[in-house]
Amino acid sequence: MKQVQINGARRAGVKSVDQPQTRDNWALVKVLAAPMCTEYKAFAAGSDSPLLGHEAAGVVVDVAQPSRVQVGDRVVAMPTNGCGKCALCLRGDFIHCQDSLDFAALHGSLIGAGTMAQYLLKQDWMLVPIPDEISIDHAAMACCGLGPSYGAMQTMRVDRHDTVLITGLGPVGLGGVVNAVYRGARVIGVESNQYRQQLAIELGADAVIDPRDPEALSQVLALTHDGRGVDKAIDCSGVVAAHRLCIDAARRKGMVAFVGECGDDTPLRISDDMIRKGLRLVGSWHYNLADAPRLMRTVGEVGAQLDKLITHRFGINDIQNAWETQLTGQCGKVILRPWEGDDV
Ligand SMILES: [Zn+2]
Ligand SMILES: [Zn+2]
Repeated sequence: MKQVQINGARRAGVKSVDQPQTRDNWALVKVLAAPMCTEYKAFAAGSDSPLLGHEAAGVVVDVAQPSRVQVGDRVVAMPTNGCGKCALCLRGDFIHCQDSLDFAALHGSLIGAGTMAQYLLKQDWMLVPIPDEISIDHAAMACCGLGPSYGAMQTMRVDRHDTVLITGLGPVGLGGVVNAVYRGARVIGVESNQYRQQLAIELGADAVIDPRDPEALSQVLALTHDGRGVDKAIDCSGVVAAHRLCIDAARRKGMVAFVGECGDDTPLRISDDMIRKGLRLVGSWHYNLADAPRLMRTVGEVGAQLDKLITHRFGINDIQNAWETQLTGQCGKVILRPWEGDDV
């Protein structure tokens, strides 16, 4: 099968590897859509990895034993490889599993672990069925397109009474706009990239503030009821200044969720931010597996929005262009099609 590889800084291609084999409860999935996420950073740095891609929708083509999925089922593959046995996995929070399975040890290599390839292996319980009326590309937005912000909004119970601040309008933040608008909330975005500012407005954001403006905080506050602050804020940028903006722009007893990964420390004032202001802070990586059917219904109802969120599609042989496009920032969600040019 074909699998994406990085050949150096900003050089990518496709290599041929053995097709992975099913065993136990691991199903073989033919990947039809692999939404692209943060792998472009490895492309820019030139660091190849056998584990490129963690988002996929496709069809089950082989199982090793009677299973929760059957050959022919259309499915979305959940990220990571939870143990399936611990308290976190059993209650749907597999993303936080501390006993994640060692894919390479189980299967002899990492072939089939990444999604930027023609096939992948996944435990049957981590494959979410796609209803007939939902397209593969739309269903694939139940990964990082809509998923991380969906998890945050479920935890914070975002609804139509809320004004929600979303900082960082990359594909995850833009997916957050789709989710918040679907819930009837009013959305204020924060983003410096003009293309993405415009896309956020098209997706239904009320206003988008440029974080480079020294008055960004007061601009956000001016858009809220009595200038008291937003009810809920979600950072999708992973930028310390944006974390601070979320904390400062949230109203008293408001909530802030951190979705964007960050390697730096964000200063937090325990008295002023937490005790006096009464903020509630949420760390949110993905969504609970029990919410998958509900998210899939959302996907079915926001199809026209997803057609705006997905701005580009590339065949696997065009991986170089796909990553170059991501690096420009002139895109929403980009989908890689592992079979384009072969059979479909
Ligand atoms: Zn577990
Ligand atoms: Zn992702």
